Amino acid sequence: MDFLQKEVLEPDITATGNCHSCNELVQFGTPKCPYCGTLLDRQRMLASVQENFYITQAVSSANTIRTFRPAAFLFLVVAVGRFLMDYSLRNNLFMTVLWFMPVVIIVAWFFKHGGRTSKDDDYLESKQKMKSDLLLWLAVNILNWVTLGVVFSRRK
Ligand SMILES: [Zn+2]
Repeated sequence: MDFLQKEVLEPDITATGNCHSCNELVQFGTPKCPYCGTLLDRQRMLASVQENFYITQAVSSANTIRTFRPAAFLFLVVAVGRFLMDYSLRNNLFMTVLWFMPVVIIVAWFFKHGGRTSKDDDYLESKQKMKSDLLLWLAVNILNWVTLGVVFSRRK
């Protein structure tokens, strides 16, 4: 779970904040705003730095989670394959746990990042994408359980 925490849910990002004079996004620690030339006061930037940090992290984390999507379609093939081939109990168990992982990760995303009040477009879009991914993965899991159920009831 350490990998999940560090790489997926809390990726490393550069701290940025908004200039307290012109509101442009600048790297935190820059002494002078490159847009308007104002000397930047770290203290006055701090609130926006924190806000930007959380938002960027939430967006970056959501983008990583989105890369799992192709696996959902691969799953369709695997689920259909269940009717053609006899998967071992161990394989079935492994796949059931594996396909459930994205659901766990997306729910963790909502716990960690979902409660922000930010109106940032990228953030709101990420939230929307995480919702549709959650539905996709729930559908995948339901399909998994249904096909499992059919295969097992046929065996008896
Ligand atoms: Zn500025």
